[in-house]
Amino acid sequence: ESLSQRLQNTFDRLGGGRVVTEQDVKDAMRDVRMALLEADVALPIVKDFVGRVRDRAIGAEVHKTLRPHEQVVKIIHEEMRDTLGEAGRLNFSGSTKPHVIMMVGLQGSGKTTSAAKLAMYLRKEGRQPFLVAADTYRPAAVDQLVTLAKQVNIPYYEEGVSAKPTDIAKRGLEAAKNADASVVIIDTAGRLQIDDQLMTELEEIKRRTNPAEILLVADAMTGQEAVNIATGFNERVGITGLVLTKVDGDARGGAALSMRAVTGVPIKFMGTGEKISLETFEQFHPERIADRILGMGDMMTLIEKAESLYEEEEAMRLQQKMMENKFTLQDFLDQLRKIRRMGPIGKVLGMLPGMSKLQMQGMLDNEEVEARISKVEAILNSMTIQEREKPKILNASRKKRIARGSGVEVRDVNDVIKQYRQMQKMMDQLRKGRFPKIPGLEGI
Ligand code: GDP
Ligand code: MG
Repeated sequence: ESLSQRLQNTFDRLGGGRVVTEQDVKDAMRDVRMALLEADVALPIVKDFVGRVRDRAIGAEVHKTLRPHEQVVKIIHEEMRDTLGEAGRLNFSGSTKPHVIMMVGLQGSGKTTSAAKLAMYLRKEGRQPFLVAADTYRPAAVDQLVTLAKQVNIPYYEEGVSAKPTDIAKRGLEAAKNADASVVIIDTAGRLQIDDQLMTELEEIKRRTNPAEILLVADAMTGQEAVNIATGFNERVGITGLVLTKVDGDARGGAALSMRAVTGVPIKFMGTGEKISLETFEQFHPERIADRILGMGDMMTLIEKAESLYEEEEAMRLQQKMMENKFTLQDFLDQLRKIRRMGPIGKVLGMLPGMSKLQMQGMLDNEEVEARISKVEAILNSMTIQEREKPKILNASRKKRIARGSGVEVRDVNDVIKQYRQMQKMMDQLRKGRFPKIPGLEGI
């Protein structure tokens, strides 16, 4: 039984009552503790975590919009997010260009793979990445990096395996400078276990290249062992961030929770596949992992986003406008922008219960929905504030101008206005206490 399933059962059980009793919390926490231990989260972390959740859950602050069991889920989610730390972000402050990133870790942890993915990530950020092959421990290591660098078209430096890694690193840095690179990623050697020779070598590379970031690449599948490895590397070399790899194969998800809590080192990226691609290399987001470990879908994220975006006052104001039939195109645009701020539309839809199923069945084409919303937004943006506040003044010449401004046909502008009129009508019906027909959703 997975952690998520177990928690789900616990929450289902909690869902029965209207009030969370102390006994409920006790039962839930026993299950949570068991589940976390089974997920390979270190015992002290589990104890600490459960303690914090219990304290908060028993004296749970009454929340207007959530039911009691949802409150417990929310607390667990929040505490988990706190335990996981902040979102992953590279830190180049105090370093001069080219900034150096050293990849360290045991053999097979995914250093070389992650170095190539990271280079792609940096390039997408608009930087000029450069790879240096400083793993001379295994003959094939240099070839592997060179092959990947060529494959993804990133400039690199190598000297085969006969030179000293520290010298290669130093000369690689010079080569990167000459190539006008802005970030240099040094791929280093690993061992099957932490050993003194390796640590000395890494210390020396560090001393000679003055890295802004030393990223420990760790295999999530090794669970608690990964925590010990991180501690070992941190004590000798000092690490600034973690790259958790093979997260795709780790159903338990406990390593992430332990690693950050034990080492205090932030998780910056996650590898989720063998393929060298940006799709298998994610910036670390604590709430996503918390969702994942909890297996709650992204429901919690949605609840929170909805809470912060649709502030009560705002909702009141809008309701007032609807009641008075004063909902304008400006309000329409505001609503669209809010939805957009919640994330890519596919993600937003996926957060709604039932929607991700439709998405999986291919019944919702996210890109098409996204494109349509963008188009509507562009049209609304091309209008003047006056036009948005008083749609009645939209005559033929104004429509023509708006169409030109947003690169569409007048017909598209008319469609948006028509859509708006439908919304208005819908609100009017609501106002009169009738349940409105929602365009496009009549049959559901
Ligand atoms: P290194 O020895 O630390 O440089 O490790 P490599 O980069 O050579 O990777 C070791 C193995 O792990 C290779 O087979 C990679 O394809 C695989 N690997 C690396 N990252 C990931 C990942 O995120 N997911 C999966 N499934 N495999 C990975
Ligand atoms: Mg390697």
